[in-house]
Amino acid sequence: MLESVNAGTSEAQLAKLAQLVSLFERGPIAVLTGAGMSTDSGIPDYRGAGSPPRNPMNIAQFTEDPHYRRRFWAGARIGQNRMNTVEPNDGHRALARLEAAGRIEGVITQNVDGLHRRGGSRTVVELHGGGGVMRCIQCGERWTRSEVLGWFDTLNPGYAERNAGAEVAPDGDALVTEVDSVRVPLCPGCGGTLRPDVVYFGETVPVAVFDAAAELVSRSTALLVVGSSLAVNTGMRLVHKTERLGNPLAVINRGPTAIDARPSLAVRIDGGTTETLTALADALGA
Ligand SMILES: [Zn+2]
Repeated sequence: MLESVNAGTSEAQLAKLAQLVSLFERGPIAVLTGAGMSTDSGIPDYRGAGSPPRNPMNIAQFTEDPHYRRRFWAGARIGQNRMNTVEPNDGHRALARLEAAGRIEGVITQNVDGLHRRGGSRTVVELHGGGGVMRCIQCGERWTRSEVLGWFDTLNPGYAERNAGAEVAPDGDALVTEVDSVRVPLCPGCGGTLRPDVVYFGETVPVAVFDAAAELVSRSTALLVVGSSLAVNTGMRLVHKTERLGNPLAVINRGPTAIDARPSLAVRIDGGTTETLTALADALGA
């Protein structure tokens, strides 16, 4: 914490903040956010420096392996209480302030935590969907996660109480051991398999969603990348789109990113998203 405060107030950082502010002179810009945006809300960024390695959920395993699905729903149910305590941070609120002041066109996010909308942003493109929504693989119908977890409780009476002590990882995934007897909630319409309505590793962003993001970039005069190392391909496609338009890029991120050496990068701030975005909104009078 002390390190970030010092970095945020050093002369070099202030000069960079001034450079970032000047980027807004040509008109509203687009913002692309990644996991680093939500670390101050208590959701760990597994790609950040010093983070433990992690296997992203495998959707093929999810759809083909009944044991994997039982484990998923059990973990989701026990982890629910922790996820319910996650709140937007001042960085999310700073972006909402900038949008309300007409300084940004909107937010494109790689996160599935729904915190931008809850933080007050109105124009939000969720590239990877929303973790709070479940979708039937067969008929496409959607429900909220809490609705489906209610069905889980009906199918598995006493389960949540018996396993309340299970260890919950910071991202809400619970390490449950009682798995074999779990009854998995199914689509009430067609009996199909329900899955999170998110784009998993190895899946592609729906065309309409990418088009909405690209359109937002087209309306903007620059692209500001926040809390992402741009390891995700879709983010790089938006970077290329920005460059084709002849617009500059900017980065706020702790640690290196995939675009650090690009000539189109106008300013790069190596710092925390919460304090930098708050300082930016203050500087722009948002
Ligand atoms: Zn269905």
